[in-house]
Amino acid sequence: MINIKTEEEIELIRENNLLVSATLAEVGRHIKPGISTLELDAIAEEFIRSHGAVPAFLGYGGFPNTLCISLNEQVVHGIPSSKLVLKESDIVSVDCGTIMKGFYGDSAYTFTVGEVSEDVAKLLKVTKESLCKGAMKAKAGNRVGDIASAVQLHAELNGFSVVRELVGHGLGRNLHEEPEVPNFGSRGRGPLLKVGMVLCIEPMINMGTKSVIFEQDGWTVRTKDRKPSAHFEYAVAITKDGPDVLTDFNVIENAIKQ
Ligand code: MG
Ligand code: MG
Repeated sequence: MINIKTEEEIELIRENNLLVSATLAEVGRHIKPGISTLELDAIAEEFIRSHGAVPAFLGYGGFPNTLCISLNEQVVHGIPSSKLVLKESDIVSVDCGTIMKGFYGDSAYTFTVGEVSEDVAKLLKVTKESLCKGAMKAKAGNRVGDIASAVQLHAELNGFSVVRELVGHGLGRNLHEEPEVPNFGSRGRGPLLKVGMVLCIEPMINMGTKSVIFEQDGWTVRTKDRKPSAHFEYAVAITKDGPDVLTDFNVIENAIKQ
């Protein structure tokens, strides 16, 4: 069943996603060569708790930390570690969730450490554009497949590949609600979109093959060919006036510019 949210409920989901955005901005300020992913995790946990919320991923399905931090060829669900230290030219996908006032936030951003190569910069740019193109299709009367195909088309037209094994989802009183929101598919197919739905759209786009490996740690997903992968995620509400993005990437981008 797909939960339909009231306007008041959507505002509570927005509050969560704005806190997630601010947390990602705070993490982004600390991203530099020499910092470990466990240090970034501690910064995020402290930030979330100091704003009266609870980290949503900590303990979720047994996940041990506040953030999923995935470096370079890691796609998603990387576990923070003191042994994973950022270095120049890395890319760092940070996925963050909160629980506050009975609702969830869930968003992700891929950061760069210093200068990255031109093709890696393009991967990040195209992944974020794919997310935006998908979100523009999040309108009442469209179907999930309209979002999915828009994401896939933009990624593939630019020579990249779309991960199949992991998908976006509904968001609300639960972290993962129906419907599933794949990043590949056919226009006009899948569940009908209605006013009051809130979806997390989260393309995971690979530089090389779309194939992924699930690592022995039970969490980390990486590309089979060990080429880089990018992940951007935001929550979008379907309103009578069209898509309403509940996450604020601007606050993240302003933070990392300084
Ligand atoms: Mg997420
Ligand atoms: Mg998600």
